[in-house]
Amino acid sequence: MRIVLISTPIGFLGSGKGGGVELTLNSLVSGLISLGHSVEVVAPKNSKLHESNVNAKLHFVEGEDQISWQHQDFNSHVSIPDNSLLAGMLEKAIDIAKHADVLLNMSYDWLPIWMTLNLEIPIAHIVSMGSESSVISNLISKVYAKYPNNFAFHSKMQANDYPFIKKPTIIGNGFNLDNYIFQDSVKGPLAWVGRVAPEKGLEDAVYVADQLGEKLKVWGFIEDEMYASKIEKLFPQGAIDWMGFLSTDELQKELGKCRGLLNTPKWNEAYGNVIVEALACGVPVVAYKRGGPSEIIMHGQTGYLADPDDKKNMLSYVEIIEKINRQKCREWVEKNASADIFANKVVNWLNEVMHEYK
Ligand code: UDP
Repeated sequence: MRIVLISTPIGFLGSGKGGGVELTLNSLVSGLISLGHSVEVVAPKNSKLHESNVNAKLHFVEGEDQISWQHQDFNSHVSIPDNSLLAGMLEKAIDIAKHADVLLNMSYDWLPIWMTLNLEIPIAHIVSMGSESSVISNLISKVYAKYPNNFAFHSKMQANDYPFIKKPTIIGNGFNLDNYIFQDSVKGPLAWVGRVAPEKGLEDAVYVADQLGEKLKVWGFIEDEMYASKIEKLFPQGAIDWMGFLSTDELQKELGKCRGLLNTPKWNEAYGNVIVEALACGVPVVAYKRGGPSEIIMHGQTGYLADPDDKKNMLSYVEIIEKINRQKCREWVEKNASADIFANKVVNWLNEVMHEYK
């Protein structure tokens, strides 16, 4: 299959601004290539693919980023800036796709979904978020009526945000297991990993660590500085150990030394890459039972699911985290979320999409 992949129009690949989509795109590209497919990626200027993806051709586009939908009002109109990066990426992708079988869109935005109605070449969309915009959800509903196969979701809980999708295609997510090394660090610190932004609920994780008299190690791109400094002021000085944004390789080395990861989503998390990355290193996860995390974590086996927003309940599970067998965490990822398993699911789905156009 010749696949043209459209990246996120928020930040270049490697910047961290695109959140989990950046890693998902990389593992998907390597999974597809290892299955023998050809992949070309259209992405913002300065983007870098993981070194294992040298066989994928990368096309750069310059332009203005889109505003991320999770930071706009649900009822906001679509806004497209002058010199739009997203429009530029679409133009480039459509041009290349003249010689391809399918366009695969990984940006959560209005324009590529609307294009579905106006393109002869198949275009498939990996929806990376829950319903964050009424215009986008309404458009998905309209396009779905004509092209019911063209949307895939990472988890059932995410797809539930789009109730008009009757039988959603769930593709989960995939990870290059060679990039994560198992560590048996039962006595390490507590970790939190993610974009530092309100929908990620960092304050609840700091509360839990602080109650235990511990510093919380925090890795990730600080997307919202005001929010970060607001949290700092809520707790005694030094409660947060800011570790910065690291490459996957550096991150997994540090993360593997931790005895547990706390995951505190305040929104309907579509999947939760950082959970699986922790598990791949042997780190159990305590998360709120909300969105993707509630489908990934096996309660009592690879971590615990706490009642949403109940910090005390989360604390009680962190106190017994050493009961989790770290090897079981790694095994779960090997059996359920490798890059190959993910790529196979995506290929099966793309075949269905292409079939619709014949
Ligand atoms: N991440 C990273 N380096 C860091 C912290 C985070 O590369 O220091 C990446 C992490 O690998 C994950 C992404 O940031 O892929 C966060 O994705 P997630 O699905 O958890 O949430 P999103 O940001 O997409 O809402």
